[in-house]
Amino acid sequence: MTESRGLVLVVEDERHIADVQRLYLAREGFGVHVESDGRAGLAAARRMHPVAIVLDVGLPGLDGITFCRALRDAGDWTPVLLVTARGEEADRILGLELGADDYLTKPFSPRELVARVKTVLRRAAGPPGAAPGGVGRLSVDPVSRTVRRDGEPVELTATEFNLIAHLVRQPGRVYTREQLLAEVWGYPGYRDTRMVDVFVSQLRAKLGDASPIRTVRGVGYSATDPGR
Ligand code: CA
Repeated sequence: MTESRGLVLVVEDERHIADVQRLYLAREGFGVHVESDGRAGLAAARRMHPVAIVLDVGLPGLDGITFCRALRDAGDWTPVLLVTARGEEADRILGLELGADDYLTKPFSPRELVARVKTVLRRAAGPPGAAPGGVGRLSVDPVSRTVRRDGEPVELTATEFNLIAHLVRQPGRVYTREQLLAEVWGYPGYRDTRMVDVFVSQLRAKLGDASPIRTVRGVGYSATDPGR
């Protein structure tokens, strides 16, 4: 059996959903390890260093939100795809704020799951060959995937990094939320654009007064030097 695409950790307590996830991810060439309990899942994440984690929110032992927070607090930036049930919108937003990279709402098609895992991984790898850039007190190096504020590294999730790197590539250029979803998240067509706002507010919180992200009312966002 080939595991050329790496190991995906699935943390899901509904057996039939976990079985489908395992089947479809394995079919795409991923190795798959399944845990049905949040605490066991977190231990597996630390032990196995998966390339991505598909994480259910409602779990015994430790819920997905707490799981995600524990992971990020420990400095683990493995891409996390959060799986939420209908009506868990507050959890979904909280999960993104706590460092999940994306979410999927139940019920979802297995093909959608596979596509989303691939997108999260592609995003974590970042765009190839981009030149270093920066705006104001912020510098962005796409090769080492580091952002520095006044020379000091800032810890960002893969998605946060990709968003800020995308915005500073062309300072002053204005992007719509739909455009950012397509170009940063890889989602063509319409999707919940509030996700962009959530990630922008996280970046602003982490970058503080060095944040170059400017809201362009009624349009979207752009990166400009806040000191000018
Ligand atoms: Ca569940």
